[in-house]
Amino acid sequence: MLTVQPTKKKSYIYHWSSNLQKKHKDIAILGGGMVGLAMAHQIKKQYPDLSILIIDKELSLGLHSSGRNSGVLHAGIYYKPNTLKAKVCVDGAKRLKNWCKSEGLPILECGKIISPQKPELDNQLEILIERGKANGAKVLLIDEKEFKEKVPNGRTASGRAIWSPQTCVVNPKIIIERLGKTLKKMGVEFLMGQEIRDVDVSGQHLTLKRNSSKNDEIQAIHYGHLFNCTGLQADRIAKKFGVGDGFRLLPFKGIYWKLHPKAPFTFRTNLYPVPDLKVPFLGVHITPSTDGSIYLGPTAIPAWGRENYQGIHSIEPLMAIGLMKDLSIQWLKNSGGFRKYAQEQALHGLKPLFLEAARALIPNLESKHLIESGKVGIRAQLYNHKTGSLVQDFVLEKGIASTHVLNAISPAFTASFALADVILKHSSL
Ligand SMILES: Cc1cc2nc3c(=O)[nH]c(=O)nc-3n(C[C@H](O)[C@H](O)[C@H](O)COP(=O)(O)OP(=O)(O)OC[C@H]3O[C@@H](n4cnc5c(N)ncnc54)[C@H](O)[C@@H]3O)c2cc1C
Repeated sequence: MLTVQPTKKKSYIYHWSSNLQKKHKDIAILGGGMVGLAMAHQIKKQYPDLSILIIDKELSLGLHSSGRNSGVLHAGIYYKPNTLKAKVCVDGAKRLKNWCKSEGLPILECGKIISPQKPELDNQLEILIERGKANGAKVLLIDEKEFKEKVPNGRTASGRAIWSPQTCVVNPKIIIERLGKTLKKMGVEFLMGQEIRDVDVSGQHLTLKRNSSKNDEIQAIHYGHLFNCTGLQADRIAKKFGVGDGFRLLPFKGIYWKLHPKAPFTFRTNLYPVPDLKVPFLGVHITPSTDGSIYLGPTAIPAWGRENYQGIHSIEPLMAIGLMKDLSIQWLKNSGGFRKYAQEQALHGLKPLFLEAARALIPNLESKHLIESGKVGIRAQLYNHKTGSLVQDFVLEKGIASTHVLNAISPAFTASFALADVILKHSSL
């Protein structure tokens, strides 16, 4: 039986009465995506004496959402004031931007335009301006002349748009790699390619097995506190700890196209549509990247598996049936809104229909200007069975000596350092 006693220094003392060969860690972090890494960084800064172990089922970092996103450091415009997203986005973006600069990592301070793709969406601009200001973001309404100066090949359906000068673009893979190395130097340990086999929740004890190995090599870890930062798998892991009942993750696939380098136009800033504020997706957008390529996307297509990035590989039939059931409930509850939205999004998987959607913002875009990029990400969108709705905000759930981060969707990458501070506080470590 394991007992953990916090000392004044916030370090933990372990007492054992078992004959298993165990590793003893003050903090175990499941998941080495941006949220898990940022957690380790902030814990180490506040409590340098705590021993921290990051466990990831993959052999390298950044193989899921954190290495597959748009790389946009959001300015904090979209989120309802007082939500967790609104509270952490502006501060998180500033901190990640400063960290990238201090590390000499590429960053494109290119700003962003939000443009109505239909005239009737013009009135949403005021809502976004209000939200942005309330959240502490710098947001300006611009007219068509200013819009055209910034995006000569773009279109605003109403003659107005929003200019966000603080939005910037980073390279997520480079950030993850550098943060991983920094953490190692700070004394954080990594256990890669390992998955949970069993959890003894009250004993604060994990047994791990090597992922994709036939030899059931077992390791045992005792922890003082565990943070579940497993992104697309977070609800499944939470349930092993008796947490998150009533929630299930629904995966939505985001496919990106690349603008052909010979296309007769380019983009120096991000160009986003006015989003449907009732759903947690921002819509197909145009993003210049730090290596000079221009990406268009991502789509938000219901995915047949949480890690089903390509073809039929890693399809989860039971999950797909559950997904269809949950989406049907959404559609029935909200037949005009989400149903129409989901149908449109599913069709964006087809190039001609994707092109049609993108043309609402770039009228001269042609099929030959879009080339396959191979870039695909899957959003870990949380669904609440009790309310029958998609959850818009981040969700933090507490278990015995554990904290579970559910719904770490956008802007969790942007907000990671600030979000980690909030999670740490929530955990009462
Ligand atoms: C297409 C797309 C575009 C996006 N664009 C943006 C953007 O522009 N800006 C922004 O701020 N955000 C964006 N996001 C959101 C952002 O990428 C995520 O919010 C963020 O990366 C979440 O980080 P995470 O650490 O929670 O998850 P992940 O990066 O998915 O990390 C989870 C980790 O847990 C590991 N894991 C899973 N199961 C287990 C297990 N059983 N045991 C051990 N380890 C496990 C995985 O291997 C993975 O490494 C986008 C997301 C997508 C999909």
